[in-house]
Amino acid sequence: MGGKYATETLGSDEGGIARAAAILRDGGLVAVPTETVYGLAARADRADAAARIYEAKGRPSFNPLIVHVASLDAAREIAVFDDTAETLAVKYWPGPLTLVLPRRRDASLAPAVTAGLDTVAIRMPNHPVMRDILREIDFPLAAPSANRSGFISPTTAAHVLASLDGRIDAVIDGGACKAGVESTIVAVREGGEIEILRPGPLEIAARLSEGGIEAPGQLASHYAPGKPVRLDVTSADRDEFIIGFSEVKGDCSLSPEGDLDEAASRLYACLHLAAASKKPRIAVAPVPETGIGKAINDRLRRAATPPD
Ligand code: AMP
Ligand code: MG
Repeated sequence: MGGKYATETLGSDEGGIARAAAILRDGGLVAVPTETVYGLAARADRADAAARIYEAKGRPSFNPLIVHVASLDAAREIAVFDDTAETLAVKYWPGPLTLVLPRRRDASLAPAVTAGLDTVAIRMPNHPVMRDILREIDFPLAAPSANRSGFISPTTAAHVLASLDGRIDAVIDGGACKAGVESTIVAVREGGEIEILRPGPLEIAARLSEGGIEAPGQLASHYAPGKPVRLDVTSADRDEFIIGFSEVKGDCSLSPEGDLDEAASRLYACLHLAAASKKPRIAVAPVPETGIGKAINDRLRRAATPPD
């Protein structure tokens, strides 16, 4: 692909983890598998490292990053936890839950990581590779999805290289991600009220935010495959690549058995296939709006909305 970096592909063994930790210590960029999607990690406490993430992704500077930590103690050094936040963290961490909390004034975070907000998004991931890396280092990692801004998220190392080869120092190949859609983002407001900013693998009973664009995962157009996308299709036109589900057969299927967890884990792989196919348009079978189906449909609606 060309670029100023010779991107290394690392194994997820001890040697690969040690090499990734060394690159990160130096302020470099490493794409790392997590249980949701591959994240593009850099140390969150250094401005030059955080700036590299925005540059590699072509990410607008107003879009803040999620900070990944090894422990609840490390999280408490960055954000203020009230009882509600504490309860959610204890219940769901490590796991695909991101909490948006008041940022501690003395937190050692590059300002770009929070895009100047007085809140910070933080999570403790549950993937063995990401956890091994976090244990090797003594600083938090900022890690948005490892793709060019606005495009389809990566669930394999090959997806990462397809958009970031030559733009990052390394990728750790840890196989396909399990959950397949990005973390559920929950904001804990003053007084303990909670609000879902982005639906995800964890279903949490709370109001879905309709307010301004606080989390650009909420932008109308995101995850864009670069072609028109038509949703809720049971029979495709000839020039359409159809992504099937359940009894709707497709050029590929999210889940022939109609299993929503499998569908989530295969969502981005199917969108990558559809984007790469010769067909000029994409159709997607209906997916039920229950459980993780809500997160799948949220991503599909944004993929179907053309960029400005
Ligand atoms: P990505 O990691 O690329 O999936 O994107 C991270 C998501 O977290 C984006 O939608 C961000 O806008 C959101 N986010 C990060 N920090 C904050 C924050 N302080 N307040 C609200 N949303 C945030
Ligand atoms: Mg993203």
